[in-house]
Amino acid sequence: MLEEKVIDFTAVKEILDVCLRLDSKGLVNAYEGNVSIKRDGYLYITPASKNKAFLKEEMICILEADSLKQVGGIFPPSSEMLLHTLSYQARPDIAGVIHCHAPYLTAFALCNKPVESKAYPEMMGNFKKIQVAPYGRPGTPAIFDEARELVKKNDVVLLANHGVLAVGKDIWTVMNKTEACESIAKVLTLAEQIGKPVNLSDDECQFFIAK
Ligand SMILES: [Zn+2]
Repeated sequence: MLEEKVIDFTAVKEILDVCLRLDSKGLVNAYEGNVSIKRDGYLYITPASKNKAFLKEEMICILEADSLKQVGGIFPPSSEMLLHTLSYQARPDIAGVIHCHAPYLTAFALCNKPVESKAYPEMMGNFKKIQVAPYGRPGTPAIFDEARELVKKNDVVLLANHGVLAVGKDIWTVMNKTEACESIAKVLTLAEQIGKPVNLSDDECQFFIAK
């Protein structure tokens, strides 16, 4: 029986709110995408294969962060839980993780193409370049073996032939970064369709990259 004092309903509520937002922005599809928060020795994570638009409090999985023993939630955790636990191991400074198949970012990931631009100052200033980790089979430790070094230095990483992994100090920051990166990937894709993006000079690019 889970003692009431260890249940952080704030964390559960934050996950539900973030899932609704990700769903409303079209960043998760019916079965894919997972969200977690690590707080006070517990891992709160979305259940496997449930639509993010219809999650309820009791569906959010609660696990002891060290043993990964499930102590709350009526369903098993996401099949990508390893991606979350390994991210927390690699980045002791983070407390939130989102993995999803946001359409534009995932399209870049399928092409194994980093998101980068010399024409978009906000992109350069905020994210420099969103890099691609080599392919690792989803649901296995291989997925993170390939991403570990990039995740240590970057809050948003594309997973080749798969999707995007975003981490940060709190789940709201992670959500905002996921949204912002998806928007950038969309803009760059549209710009390529409309014409040829006009690159800024190297000096001007450097100004933003150095910020
Ligand atoms: Zn995935």
